Amino acid sequence: MIIVLKPNATKKQIDHIVKKMEKLGLKPWLSEGVERSIVGVIGKEDVIRTLPLEGFPGVEKVIPILKPYKRASLDFKKTPTKVSAGGGVVIGGKEIIVMAGPCSVENQKILLETAKVVKKSGAKILRGGAFKPRTSPYSFQGLGEVGLKYLAEARERTGLRVVTEIMDVRTLEMVTKYTDIIQIGARNMQNFDLLKEVGKVRTPVLLKRGIASTIKELLMSAEYILAGGNKDVILCERGIRTFETFTRNTLDLNAVPALKSLTHLPVVVDPSHGTGRWGLVSVMAGAAIAAGADGLMIEVHPNPEEAFSDGDQSLLPAKFDTMMKSLRKIAKAVGRTL
Ligand code: PEP
Ligand code: MN
Repeated sequence: MIIVLKPNATKKQIDHIVKKMEKLGLKPWLSEGVERSIVGVIGKEDVIRTLPLEGFPGVEKVIPILKPYKRASLDFKKTPTKVSAGGGVVIGGKEIIVMAGPCSVENQKILLETAKVVKKSGAKILRGGAFKPRTSPYSFQGLGEVGLKYLAEARERTGLRVVTEIMDVRTLEMVTKYTDIIQIGARNMQNFDLLKEVGKVRTPVLLKRGIASTIKELLMSAEYILAGGNKDVILCERGIRTFETFTRNTLDLNAVPALKSLTHLPVVVDPSHGTGRWGLVSVMAGAAIAAGADGLMIEVHPNPEEAFSDGDQSLLPAKFDTMMKSLRKIAKAVGRTL
């Protein structure tokens, strides 16, 4: 950590900072310049971070050297993390893994029908929400445990793995009983109690980026799960809120290479929520693969007009199939398989 002092910092103020650091068992050294001075501090940055240093008299700014996330960082682990969802499905390897299915689990028939078609087109994981985070309390809230049972049944019937969202710590035991991957949705990315709890289980976690969260905040949330002992975290870029209203969100594909430069964790992209428009999904899915994504999450519905949620952004099975064929070519061009 480097503490940059104000040009008019007094000797008394500087001495106070140096003594404070020493008292904490850290090693400060003062470097006095003509214009201004700096104090370098070596030691546990997490200890230093707890101090409101920028509020200390004489301090202009504080520059951390280490990243605030540790376990999520490439400094901690240099090799890419491969997350196994069971059944031979691995996210973070050469193969691009596609998770597809309806936004919500609506009924047994639609779910199974969708599962069969997405599997035929090459998806490896079935998605579907049984607990839905809806903006309106009057909108469909999900089938709850019944929906989880349908997902587990679709897994038995198709061999697909399953990913589903958890919203409440109280349902953790129930959700882990049925799913292969727990999804933490955008709205819960900073529900720290939920993150701590999923950190204690051994089910992989798909952590979606918050609607207004930075890349650093996403990594800090991943750190909560990793710190709890769960090493199987998959990050998901799903669009952020900007001033643009043509699309539901702005899919931040910068996040893919940016995350790859910072973390060993696999990165998945969700162009369905990222665009909110089915007509844009295929192209942005291809762009995500070109940008280095390890997987995709795509909403598919056999009859989007009648979907209980997110019909606007859901692909018809035939469109999904066409998309998968074109994605295969893009994957090959960037040295991946699909
Ligand atoms: C979803 O995957 O259906 C969902 C609600 O996603 P997000 O949390 O990204 O909005
Ligand atoms: Mn959705």
